[in-house]
Amino acid sequence: MSECIFCKIAKGEIPAEMVYENDQVLAFRDLNPQAPVHILVIPRRHIATLNDLDEGDADLMGRLYLAAKRIAADEGIAESGYRTVINCNAGAGQTVFHVHLHLLGGRPMGWPPG
Ligand code: 5GP
Ligand code: ZN
Repeated sequence: MSECIFCKIAKGEIPAEMVYENDQVLAFRDLNPQAPVHILVIPRRHIATLNDLDEGDADLMGRLYLAAKRIAADEGIAESGYRTVINCNAGAGQTVFHVHLHLLGGRPMGWPPG
C-alpha cells in the first residue's frame, strides 16, 4: 500500500509524534486534534476498513484496544474518561483508509456523537 499515509507513518517515511509502538501496533498524535488528547492507534499491517477484517484479525484488534488502554493511563485520562472510535467508510467520516482507532480525552464528550 505505497500510497497509504498511515503505512508511510508506520515505515517512518512521514514524521508523526509517536506515543506507543510494539511489533503489531503503533500510536501517534492526530495532526488535527479534536480533544486535548487525540491519538490514533493503528495496526502496522494495512487493513483498509473494519469491513476488511477477517477472523485472523481478532487478536490484532484486541491489541489495538490494549494499546489504547495503556496510552490512556500514560496520558492521565484513564480515570476522567476517554472515548475510542473507529469510523468505517465515508458515511461515518472515515478519511484515511487504513484502520485506526481514535483515542480522545481530556474534555467532556457529548453523546450521541455527530
Ligand atoms: P478518520 O476521519 O479517517 O476517522 O480519521 C483520520 C484522522 O487522521 C483525522 O483525525 C486526521 O486529522 C488524521 N490525519 C490525517 N493525516 C494525518 C497525518 O499525516 N498525520 C497525523 N498524525 N494524522 C493525520
Ligand atoms: Zn496503510
